[in-house]
Amino acid sequence: MENCIFCKIVRKEIPSTKVYEDDYVYAFKDINPQAKHHVLVIPKQHILSDINDITEDNCFIIGRMFYAAKKISEILGIEKSGVRIINNTGKDAHQTVKHIHIHVLGGQDMGEGLV
Ligand code: 5GP
Ligand code: ZN
Repeated sequence: MENCIFCKIVRKEIPSTKVYEDDYVYAFKDINPQAKHHVLVIPKQHILSDINDITEDNCFIIGRMFYAAKKISEILGIEKSGVRIINNTGKDAHQTVKHIHIHVLGGQDMGEGLV
């Protein structure tokens, strides 16, 4: 998508700090980290804006995103201490970028709130 921030990051038109990449997904540090480690995982192709666009035909990419989250937790050395994985979809969740993504947060105690 021409004007999507995350598509621009995949195309390297906007710089980012890569944490993990494979054929399907790209993962990079969030510019405004909410935890010691805060990584965003996105499909390289803008095939979904949010979870409302998930279908039986494209849902494999969600598995790839979670596979990336596992690899990222290993890369960061926090697979034993744990991670919190969040997706924001829509207005009430304050989704700001309409290119589906998961937040992978960790490196500290994440607390008992949300969730
Ligand atoms: P959302 O609120 O849509 O779930 O999350 C979007 C996330 O993208 C936010 O946490 C925000 O900090 C991050 N973000 C927005 N623009 C950029 C950018 O240009 N670079 C990086 N690395 N992160 C960004
Ligand atoms: Zn996009």
